[in-house]
Amino acid sequence: MRRLVTVNPSPGLARRSLLVGALGVGAAGALGVAKAAPSNAAVTAVARPTIASCATWGAQPATGAVSMTGPPQKILVHHTASANTTDYSQAAAYALARNIQQWHFARGWIDSGQQFTISRGGYTMEGRHRSIEGLGSGASTVFPLGAHCTGQNSTSIGIENEGTYMTSLPTTGQWNALVTLCAYLCQTYGLGPEDIYGHRDFLDTDCPGGALYAKLPQLRSDVATRLGTSNPTPAPTRTWPTLQQGSSGFRVTAAQYLLRHSGRTLTVDGAFGAGTKAVVVSFQQSKGLTADGVIGAGTWESPLAVTCSQGQTSDAVRGVQTALTAQGYAVTVDGVFGSGTASAVKSFQTAHALDADAVVGPNTWSRLLA
Ligand SMILES: [Zn+2]
Repeated sequence: MRRLVTVNPSPGLARRSLLVGALGVGAAGALGVAKAAPSNAAVTAVARPTIASCATWGAQPATGAVSMTGPPQKILVHHTASANTTDYSQAAAYALARNIQQWHFARGWIDSGQQFTISRGGYTMEGRHRSIEGLGSGASTVFPLGAHCTGQNSTSIGIENEGTYMTSLPTTGQWNALVTLCAYLCQTYGLGPEDIYGHRDFLDTDCPGGALYAKLPQLRSDVATRLGTSNPTPAPTRTWPTLQQGSSGFRVTAAQYLLRHSGRTLTVDGAFGAGTKAVVVSFQQSKGLTADGVIGAGTWESPLAVTCSQGQTSDAVRGVQTALTAQGYAVTVDGVFGSGTASAVKSFQTAHALDADAVVGPNTWSRLLA
């Protein structure tokens, strides 16, 4: 996993960074602009950002032994789904860290689930005890085993970003802190910008919110600039079918299962009639989308097509199995994501040059519905 850092960025990097910067200011207003790497000098190593330790913000001791694991293979971005406070003070940041620890104790966890936390004011804090210890003195392969994403905890470092980012974005200070922390973690653990993901890539969750999730390509790009590496190969653009009243077929069946998974009542019959349209409108309203009753990319990724993985039993899994069947894979549409479904998903992923991890996230969903 360890990658060499390129110290001489391509001549195009500075120009690209300027372009990204201009877009970032105009499009979001709330997002920071990454510094352009010098085009004719060695890139300076990313200095460790100030990280307030558990002792500094007043953590309680963990209630069990925090063990170390590693090396990490990825970084997962979360949002706390708490209020978008305008109190940007250090005191508010430390209070947040203490509150998160209490919320996580209440879930029966031994400590804060995530390794790091970034407040709306841009303060970076240790989450789980031993996360700063794991950073070592500049290069490391270990980190404390956390509890922030079932199935990914032994291979990923979690960053909680204070706020709810379904439709709004982090503050400039928070974004800059996130870029810096991600760059420092990549440098420390030998990861690349392409190893940064959102929580929803691996689990059925809105986290880190649709607006922040949509900014992850910019996060990877900004981190690449800080590292002085070439920009990561952009993920293939996802294409999604457009479904509307009158549509029919397996894609409609899958969509109907996914709508049912969202808690709504409708008949799954593969025919997009007035009843399905009304349910789509209801779903779109709940996500703050234009409620036109047409399922396009924005609705699929809001996400209607939630992430599914082995061990789940749900209507969403029936949707996956419906699509797998239509794509020629012999699985039973029973809603149980067992080893048979997992191996079919892996075969499908391998055949389509996707990561063969058996996790049906946005990339796999969009290919299944193609
Ligand atoms: Zn999350």
